[in-house]
Amino acid sequence: MPRSKAKKDLISLIVPCYNEEATVELFVDAIDQLQKEMDYVNFEILLVDDGSKDRTLEIIRDLAKKKNYVKYISFAKNFGKEYAMIAGFDACSGDYAAAIDADLQHPPVLLKEMYDIIKTGEYDCVAAKSIKRQNYSFVRKFLTNAYYKIINSITEVEMKPSATDYRLMNRKMIDEMKRIREHNRYLKGIFEIVGFKTKWIEYEDNERVAGTTKWNLKKLFKYAITGIISFSQFPLMFLLYLGIFFAFVTCVLLVLLLIFALSHADVNFTFWGLLSIIFLMSSITLCSNGILGLYIAQIQTESKNRPLYTIKEDNIY
Ligand code: UDP
Ligand code: MG
Repeated sequence: MPRSKAKKDLISLIVPCYNEEATVELFVDAIDQLQKEMDYVNFEILLVDDGSKDRTLEIIRDLAKKKNYVKYISFAKNFGKEYAMIAGFDACSGDYAAAIDADLQHPPVLLKEMYDIIKTGEYDCVAAKSIKRQNYSFVRKFLTNAYYKIINSITEVEMKPSATDYRLMNRKMIDEMKRIREHNRYLKGIFEIVGFKTKWIEYEDNERVAGTTKWNLKKLFKYAITGIISFSQFPLMFLLYLGIFFAFVTCVLLVLLLIFALSHADVNFTFWGLLSIIFLMSSITLCSNGILGLYIAQIQTESKNRPLYTIKEDNIY
């Protein structure tokens, strides 16, 4: 493809970093290497320190001093990857922007192919689909697959289990992504509701270059619940159906109890029967309250309208 010499496109790389002291320099080195191979564009590296507790910020400061294309934002506390990404969208100035992890699991070299595709003008976004997830346990893979089956059957947006946040977007899409200010952020769903034409390309996940994963079961579970509550009202409808079903069951049981009472059957049966109904109904009520509570909690968070993130230091604004 002929490359214009007049003005090079600027590609902003938005890199969420949480306790990435072992990887952040390696990441910047990899991009320096890629910049040599892709001399027809300019890269801007936007490192978003998500309240790291290790030496990540110190390393980022040093890198920014040495390299003027390294920009950074440092959060006042750990907000989570989703928030680091929106801060990146807010601050980036590129014609294109890519979201990419610091640990080099998302191979930077894929940006070449992504850029070539997006430059055709046919797509607004080129997104990476990982065909081989390394390092994850059988249980995590199984739970992930089950989760996507459920979420896809109860939400209107389609979320691919193998889809990653590694995507190159054009300015139009970045600007629209910036307008989604919801606090309960589930990025895969947000990408879907923003719309735009996306081309999916496949790649093989690398092993993390250093350090360890920042996700644990508790964080993943909370994130999974956010995804369902943010994008589906099915659980609310389900409660209604459940209520109707058990109202019917209770009526049948009451009729049976009446028949037993009239036919002078064993009284113990009545006692245990009633007790089980009480337990059953209480557990359903408790579960229902819990699910309603989750929705109310989201409404409460959104209505407070707190800032999505707080910045304690940066070299951009
Ligand atoms: N990350 C973040 N905040 C967090 C957790 C993770 O900014 O609270 C970043 C992390 O530094 C990395 C990316 O999100 O650049 C993906 O995290 P990780 O590699 O731990 O996730 P995995 O690849 O295991 O799903
Ligand atoms: Mg990773």
